[in-house]
Amino acid sequence: AKRNGRNRFEYFTEQMGELAAKRRMIENDLREAISCRQLKLYYQPITNNQHQHIIGYEALMRWHHPEKGMIMPMDFIPIAEETGLIHSLGAYALHEACREAASWQDGQSVAVNLSPMQFKNSALVSVVEAALKESGLAPHRLEVEITESVLLDNTSVNIDILQKLKALGVRIALDDFGTGYSSLSYLRSFPFDKIKIDKSFINDMKDSREALAIIRAITGMSRSLDIQITAEGVESNEQFERLKEEGCTLFQGYYFGRPQPSEDRLKEF
Ligand code: C2E
Ligand code: CA
Ligand code: CA
Ligand code: CA
Repeated sequence: AKRNGRNRFEYFTEQMGELAAKRRMIENDLREAISCRQLKLYYQPITNNQHQHIIGYEALMRWHHPEKGMIMPMDFIPIAEETGLIHSLGAYALHEACREAASWQDGQSVAVNLSPMQFKNSALVSVVEAALKESGLAPHRLEVEITESVLLDNTSVNIDILQKLKALGVRIALDDFGTGYSSLSYLRSFPFDKIKIDKSFINDMKDSREALAIIRAITGMSRSLDIQITAEGVESNEQFERLKEEGCTLFQGYYFGRPQPSEDRLKEF
């Protein structure tokens, strides 16, 4: 038994070593990716409930690695957060999204994801300000998406940052709502423009009464608080119809369009 135990331990440490090596490699490559412009934003349409009319796009990061091909955010955002690279990656996303959106003739708005880590840097507000100024994008065409964890620690400092962003004219959305530490009381701490219901609830809605009940609670509350609700991860007409009935007003998901490079944005729809 002792030998087995040791073997298992050795196996475990070996795996850990591999994982650490993989992380180090991604970290090194990511540094280069930022300076060599291998990171690209893809834009996914967000529509309203009438005629599925596009009202804006969410910018989602993709890494075109010279050898490994396309790498998805879940495989590099957490590493960027751990290593602090998220600050330059985040600034890049803001500048790039504003620059590309400013070139869109149809005047659509763009939503950019902010990592909670970016709130630890006091420069965040000036980075957003610089991105707007440099691109000439009207502030109301920029939205930032934050998650609840931003409201969980350093609450007063972070709310102050959110207020400054709002004062610039930028809209603020609360992303992945219903997951994590979700508490309805967060909605009292800041006047969010939008709430995005996490796609796990949309996915489970058909078979889970709990998921449906949570969607109902969120839409019910949003009506009284006058906040717009976006349903994420809508993949079928059935889900779309049902979510409309439940009172969702905005929609995003593969059913309406996949994330696309800026130049392909209008071809899809
Ligand atoms: P998120 O902000 O919740 O973004 C929505 C995710 O759902 C995206 O995954 C999108 O491609 C995916 N999605 C959209 N429609 C559907 C659908 O109908 N079905 C399914 N199954 N998925 C759908 P993606 O692009 O892989 O991004 C994952 C996460 O990485 C994002 O989740 C966001 O948290 C983070 N992320 C992406 N880009 C950035 C960025 O520029 N900065 C930061 N800080 N985080 C980012
Ligand atoms: Ca998002
Ligand atoms: Ca989300
Ligand atoms: Ca998410």
